[in-house]
Amino acid sequence: MRNFDPSTNIHDYLVFGEFGDVNPSITDSSTFTFLSPKTMAESFQHEMEGCFLYSRHWNPINKFLSNALARLEDAEAAQVTSSGMAAISSTALQICSAGDEIVSERTIYGGTYAFFKNFLPRLGITVKFVDMQKPEMVELAVTERTKMIYAESVSNPLLEITDIPAISKIAKAHNIKLVVDNTFSPMVISPLHLGADIVIHSMTKYINGSSDCVAGCICSTKEFIDSLTDVNSGATMLLGPVLDSLRAASLLKNLHTLHIRMKKHGENAMYLAEKFEKLGLKVFYPGLKSSKHFRLIEDIRNEGFGYSGMIAIDVGTYERAASLLEMMQQEKVGYLAVSLGYFKTLFSSPGHSTSSEIPEDEQQEMGLSEGLVRFSIGLDGDIKLAYERITKCMKKIGIIQA
Ligand code: PLP
Repeated sequence: MRNFDPSTNIHDYLVFGEFGDVNPSITDSSTFTFLSPKTMAESFQHEMEGCFLYSRHWNPINKFLSNALARLEDAEAAQVTSSGMAAISSTALQICSAGDEIVSERTIYGGTYAFFKNFLPRLGITVKFVDMQKPEMVELAVTERTKMIYAESVSNPLLEITDIPAISKIAKAHNIKLVVDNTFSPMVISPLHLGADIVIHSMTKYINGSSDCVAGCICSTKEFIDSLTDVNSGATMLLGPVLDSLRAASLLKNLHTLHIRMKKHGENAMYLAEKFEKLGLKVFYPGLKSSKHFRLIEDIRNEGFGYSGMIAIDVGTYERAASLLEMMQQEKVGYLAVSLGYFKTLFSSPGHSTSSEIPEDEQQEMGLSEGLVRFSIGLDGDIKLAYERITKCMKKIGIIQA
């Protein structure tokens, strides 16, 4: 276990509004004035402290939020984007050009998988998908054209833990950038401390926590973030996935409660995972001592933030999964919806939703079964009640004995 405390790092970032307000003012301008043409010309060449050019480049509130996110991941710098996919696509396009290759984990979010498999080849960038649970497969897939290795710290939807230190050794030996999507485990895992070069989040999920916006971020060295915002060649500057200022302001406030939420999501998820296991169900939760990922997550996680709030169970068939999802919504367990990190429990069937971009035979090969049900466990004050409601549904469907 590691003793890095991202929450204190964020807490110690005191930001003041223009009038000493405890929250920084929301930037309501797309463009900014200069007192001299000389300063304007200089700001096109490099970033100048306290000087803003145009909101697609930077604006004060996006800068405040980015600085706080850099503290979350203990990075030199960060940049906010309009979505998690914008963070992923901008990073890939900044690092790779035609002829380059990416080695990616195969069990990743379906949108990322589709971008890698269907979109990047149009630009001459090829992606090799490997089982990242076997670092030797990464080594075998790397060639002199590989520019980026991509993994999710906790994979979606099978909740496998990536051995970031082992993959990082391979990346460093070949001078390749290791990019880690840490969407499922903010604060729980700090990939940069484990050897990753770039960390990405879909802030749509845990970081925001209220399912009211889509947003993303990239955390890395100052050099990499500067390259993204370069006016002549930066992917975020030129593709333009800017986060709206109003959203940046609300995200900054939500970020300050993330540590409390992650703890509670994790406690509730652990309670349910242990109970489900006792019922004899096939449970995927890295915090369970019986999980094959337990030792690794114990080694790499930060103390005090649990094991995240995502659980998956395998109920055998899609029909049973579908009945369970429908009934749980009727019983007020939560919502039948994709996404995660919301204060209420969300559940879905990944094979028929967030992972449906992955062809069926590949789903089977990676162990993603038809009967898989994924839960993003909420902040329920009474998690026992949620358990009673879920088991009531399971009994009615015949998943467990009445
Ligand atoms: N990464 C992961 C692990 C995700 O689950 C998602 C979305 O579901 C994304 C990235 C994409 O993020 P966004 O929807 O914010 O573009």
